[in-house]
Amino acid sequence: MTIPVIRPWLGEEEAEAAAEAVRSGWVAQGPRVAEFEQAFAGFAGAAEGVAVSSCTTGLHLALHLLGAGPGDEVVVPSFSFIATANAVRYVGATPVFADVDPVTGNLTAGTVDAVLTPRTVAVIGVHQGGVPFDVDALEALCSKNSLALVHDSACAAGSTYRGKPVSAGAALAAWSFHPRKLLTTGEGGMLTTVDTGWAARLRRLREHGMSVSAADRHASSGVTLESYDEVGFNFRMTDIQAAIGLVQLGKLPDVIARRRELAERYHKLLAEIEGLRWVTDPEYGTTNYQSFWVVLPDSYPGTVVDVLEGLSKRGVSARRGIMAAHLEPAYSRVDLPVTEHLTTRSVILPLFHQMTESEQDTVVTALAGIVR
Ligand SMILES: *Cc1c(COP(=O)(O)O)cnc(C)c1O
Repeated sequence: MTIPVIRPWLGEEEAEAAAEAVRSGWVAQGPRVAEFEQAFAGFAGAAEGVAVSSCTTGLHLALHLLGAGPGDEVVVPSFSFIATANAVRYVGATPVFADVDPVTGNLTAGTVDAVLTPRTVAVIGVHQGGVPFDVDALEALCSKNSLALVHDSACAAGSTYRGKPVSAGAALAAWSFHPRKLLTTGEGGMLTTVDTGWAARLRRLREHGMSVSAADRHASSGVTLESYDEVGFNFRMTDIQAAIGLVQLGKLPDVIARRRELAERYHKLLAEIEGLRWVTDPEYGTTNYQSFWVVLPDSYPGTVVDVLEGLSKRGVSARRGIMAAHLEPAYSRVDLPVTEHLTTRSVILPLFHQMTESEQDTVVTALAGIVR
């Protein structure tokens, strides 16, 4: 039996909620999506939530809303899932990669400032693996330079920044409900915003630009005709997904408490491996430990692939650390020394709600046997 890197915590309650949505006869975006949007916005400290089909389409929609396009530059970390950079390409703008902090793996005001040009219109800050970036510092830099700051909060549901939910009060934050994250709807995402006018436009844009949603037309007693005032997209979530999301949202505090408990136990156990470094809370906030990554000791001569193969032989499924988009053929190479160090020397270890202490011991013993 292999210990998986993550296992979604899904049960009968989610199955029942999905079945109820099916039995109701309304499976497309409807009342459950609206309820999930409100509940998630409340959880995230945002005025509004706009459900979308994924975090990727959420980022795309956010940049479209901001009017980013050809000739514009958007600063992003290369050290992220490739969707962050791809979203910039979707609107025809150019992603410009900035390096990250070696401890948090996140953009800093200094790394972003170094790559700003007169063409820069926005920055996408990523709360990578759940570790919050320093929001105040990036906000200050962006407002000084009249740039929009979009949060890629894909991994960060339940993380905190200065005592509040991460991205609370953000102009625009995009979240993911892919099973690799802590709250899943199968596929799915959400944009949160403090701007109710933006939320209204985002709701139209995610539904083909329709002035009246299909659900509202269905619910109205009279004849309601919609108009299409601008070109929109089909980025809708279904009511089946939202029904699952509502149950998952209720479980999230428990999921995070358990992850933080297991992460602290990892910290203690891993301390016996000399030279190993691991993800931990930054001084200004807390991580939900969506990804529990370690950086291999400099003294270990092998590669990340050697470690993954060694772990696999010992019944542990791990993953390479967070990818770097600028090293992929779809993008071009630039010099990002910290990103390259982190991506080539880090490994993501198993961490999931149902993980037992004995499974955790197995992981640590296996890793110690390889890198020591
Ligand atoms: C997972 C992830 C995404 C993409 O999320 P989807 O919902 O799968 O589109 C974007 N950014 C980051 C940082 C992610 O980890």
